[in-house]
Amino acid sequence: MGKTGSRLTGIFGGTFDPIHYGHLRVAEEIAEMIRLDEMRFVPAATPRLRCAPVAMIQHRVAMARLAIQGNSRFVLDEREVHRHGVSYSIDSLWELKQELGESIILCFVIGADAFMKLPEWHSWRELFGLCHFVIAARPGHALMTNPDALPWELKEECAERWAPSTDELGQAPGGLIFIAPTTLLDISATNIRARIAAGKSIRYLLPDATLDYIAANHLYSEAG
Ligand code: ATP
Repeated sequence: MGKTGSRLTGIFGGTFDPIHYGHLRVAEEIAEMIRLDEMRFVPAATPRLRCAPVAMIQHRVAMARLAIQGNSRFVLDEREVHRHGVSYSIDSLWELKQELGESIILCFVIGADAFMKLPEWHSWRELFGLCHFVIAARPGHALMTNPDALPWELKEECAERWAPSTDELGQAPGGLIFIAPTTLLDISATNIRARIAAGKSIRYLLPDATLDYIAANHLYSEAG
């Protein structure tokens, strides 16, 4: 609940191929930091801006469901799975505004690496009218210490939007950017997939339930 009584909902989009502790820890710390009512994990079925995911969307959804089980604030949101065609975050945000009501404040959680590429997103400037951005630190991405590292058009768009503290987020319907001081975890799905393909251990990089699902379904291995 925000300071003024407004409710804050987190939106965490990703390919989650597979979901890992880098995602889960960021989600937990940000939910606590900005007092989110819930954190919605929104797996992208067909992302526009990157190579096709390796695992089928059904598997990525199942892995995410297993990973977040037991956390009462974490919710799996399958809207981009059911929508036909390419997954656009702007469509999901529009839908959520309509479903949850105008009084809900949406906070889009994003890693520093992904935020740097925001100008490549569909209707990216319009996103600021629908949500705040909460940026998570990611090892190797300069943004956290140096917002000047942003591409010029993003830097220009962001200039008046930086929120100095979490308090501001509950007081505006969207349009602010908060850099969340989250724990740096150098875990990536790419590295997890590479380790599996090389026959190496992925234990302690992601929840056991997700790990067991990967093994049972032979995901990411040569044979998978
Ligand atoms: P890949 O290695 O396949 O690119 P990924 O590990 O980056 O995958 P995604 O599902 O693409 O995972 O990421 C979804 C979101 O989570 C993105 O905004 C990304 O920046 C963020 N994210 C992923 N891993 C971390 C991490 N270790 N720390 C902080 N943010 C992360």
